Amino acid sequence: MQRIVLATSNPGKLEEFAHMMQDLPITIISQDTLGVEPPEETGLTFIENAILKARYAATITKLPALADDSGLEVDALEGAPGIYSARYAGIGQPSSAHIRQLLHALEDVPFEKRTARFRSVLVFMRHAKDPAPIIAEGVWEGYILEAPQGQGGFGYDPVFLPATAHDGRSAAALSPAEKNHQSHRGKALAALHTRLLACFTSS
Ligand code: IMP
Repeated sequence: MQRIVLATSNPGKLEEFAHMMQDLPITIISQDTLGVEPPEETGLTFIENAILKARYAATITKLPALADDSGLEVDALEGAPGIYSARYAGIGQPSSAHIRQLLHALEDVPFEKRTARFRSVLVFMRHAKDPAPIIAEGVWEGYILEAPQGQGGFGYDPVFLPATAHDGRSAAALSPAEKNHQSHRGKALAALHTRLLACFTSS
């Protein structure tokens, strides 16, 4: 089994990656376990930040590394909050504060112009100097609602209405299985799985 470091400190993400990649000859280990502190995310794009995190974890651990970066892009706000999604209303603020800030920024924007998407970028680096990392992406198109709706999910889910939601349910009203099936992360993980399968079973 090839050991791979996952450049995240989020136990939920470790579980998600491990579940999705369970048929591959790899063991995924969280960077926490290996004593890696998360680096500062200084990139200006999701891809830059994901590469920066993967390269850092690979440098410290000398293992192949996987990293992800994700966020919400709102067209009427030129793609904001984007890479700043987790810190839109300030570092350490709860999701409710980020949502309030977003709804305030969109106050006068009519529904048809409230188009948005979640994006997830996953990066796999064979080693810290890998000149051609594997990059997988997933997007989930939708609209920003005028008020939060639904009790589940996390982050901006209560104000995200998937474009495919013909029943009007926000992302926060979907079951985890329904969300995984259509979400940016679900799509990016499926794309990465295909690429890693080729990578680990071709030799
Ligand atoms: P990170 O990729 O863990 O840095 O997360 C970025 C931020 O984007 C999260 O803190 C959320 O605010 C937002 N985000 C990413 N994916 C989702 C999602 O599926 N639902 C709601 N918010 C999300």
